Amino acid sequence: MAGVFYTSDKMIKAMEAIRYPIKGSCQCGAVSYRLLAPPQMVVACHCKECQKLSTSAFSITAIVRAEDIEFIGELSHWQRGSASGNISAAKFCGRCGNRIYHYNPAEPQSIKLKPSNLEDTRIIQPSAHAWVSEKQDWFVIPPGVKQYAGQP
Ligand SMILES: [Zn+2]
Ligand SMILES: [Zn+2]
Repeated sequence: MAGVFYTSDKMIKAMEAIRYPIKGSCQCGAVSYRLLAPPQMVVACHCKECQKLSTSAFSITAIVRAEDIEFIGELSHWQRGSASGNISAAKFCGRCGNRIYHYNPAEPQSIKLKPSNLEDTRIIQPSAHAWVSEKQDWFVIPPGVKQYAGQP
């Protein structure tokens, strides 16, 4: 699976070394989850919205199938329209506020997990960078990794 999306042999080897399931949890521990299978794709997004979300220069998202993840604990929720016209919805821990995942209510089978909450953070190596048109100038994308000016 990973080989389809990862461009370098080094990246493929790193992803193949990861063992599933992997546990994850929010910052306070009230919400936890188990990722049962590799993500379909790991993407860094440099858009202004993601800079706010991550309180950093970009956010990282692992696209996973809903059936490949199990949540324990109560998730809080919000949703709003996005610039693209899609509905963007988010699940987060109501106690500590840590974002757990995003999804489009029209495509509930696809979960946009915020994967830095996983115990094995080797997974947060992006195979593509989106919205590089809004990227911070000091951040240099590693050679050989796919880039998109906007949405891939
Ligand atoms: Zn929490
Ligand atoms: Zn973004």
